[in-house]
Amino acid sequence: MAKLEYIWLDGYKPTQSLRSKTKIEGDFSGKLEDCPNWSFDGSSTEQAPGGSSDCVLKPVFIVPDPQRRDAYLVMCEVLSADGTPHESNGRATIADDDNDFWFGFEQEYFLWDPETNKPLGFPAGGYPGPQGPYYCSVGAKNAYGRDIVEEHLDACLDAGLNVEGINAEVAAGQWEFQIFSKGAKEAGDQIWVARYLLERIGEKYGVAINWHCKPLGALDWNGSGMHANFSNEVLRTTGDENVYKKILEAFRPVVAEHIAVYGADNDQRLTGKHETASIHDYSYGVSDRGASIRIPLYTVQKGWKGYLEDRRPNSAADPYKVAARIIKTVKSVL
Ligand code: ADP
Ligand code: MN
Ligand code: MN
Ligand code: MN
Repeated sequence: MAKLEYIWLDGYKPTQSLRSKTKIEGDFSGKLEDCPNWSFDGSSTEQAPGGSSDCVLKPVFIVPDPQRRDAYLVMCEVLSADGTPHESNGRATIADDDNDFWFGFEQEYFLWDPETNKPLGFPAGGYPGPQGPYYCSVGAKNAYGRDIVEEHLDACLDAGLNVEGINAEVAAGQWEFQIFSKGAKEAGDQIWVARYLLERIGEKYGVAINWHCKPLGALDWNGSGMHANFSNEVLRTTGDENVYKKILEAFRPVVAEHIAVYGADNDQRLTGKHETASIHDYSYGVSDRGASIRIPLYTVQKGWKGYLEDRRPNSAADPYKVAARIIKTVKSVL
């Protein structure tokens, strides 16, 4: 017997949420190809009208469930009843079948107290001291929610996700994890499964996860991003600054198309302050954390062989759609 937790993204706009339900299988091999398609009521997730409500779950990625006996987490794409990708299905729009593209996402988020409707560490009636001491902090005065963060890290590693690190972030109650994968689809799969695990661990502690990019509004608190570090064979091996320039310039005329899939309310976050570039501008620069796209020093030191960091995607963006758009733009000039 095995419990298969089928996970998918609903059809809510502008931000999709995770949904999941459990399927019991008698004899199960643990392999993706032995996960059958399943269906769900799309009229309850804004993915279908009530009259013809069935949507199809197509398993695409599986890992052992690190915290539940005899269980697996099965990430799924959503198909319409006729078997074509549903319009909410960002994964199906990724043109990277040969896994040429590698992605490393830096997922930031707030641990959120549903009682106070503030981040962990914020007193009910006001605010903690200003930003400064919280980033990469230790100690009960500055670091809030470490139990949850550590449990999440172990769960991700036990599931076999390629987490590269975690850190406390600039605002109180704000944290980050990084996940890297050789292959855009799998990078997205891993981020979504890691988000799922974080949500579920939060339930145990009565702590919500706030993915909004600017949950504290216009006050002097950092927002949350999901920097997208990316490379393909060309970026990894060219050795030619001009090839980098050509690719970076390809992003300039499609700023709006990128912002459209970089997460809701990004105008609140991309203000030009708090290590961001203005949502209206497009810029790039070596080591520049105020640019839209940063050229990491590493890339230059290796003689223009490396990767780029698009700093604009926000914490609530869909990594599938972010990756799909970046790949489209890079490929447009190669
Ligand atoms: P910072 O906070 O300085 O922006 P992080 O260390 O948090 O940087 O994240 C850097 C990310 O870049 C990591 O997720 C890493 O996996 C990713 N990365 C490194 N090399 C490559 C590469 N060649 N292609 C894509 N991503 C990469
Ligand atoms: Mn980082
Ligand atoms: Mn960060
Ligand atoms: Mn970064």
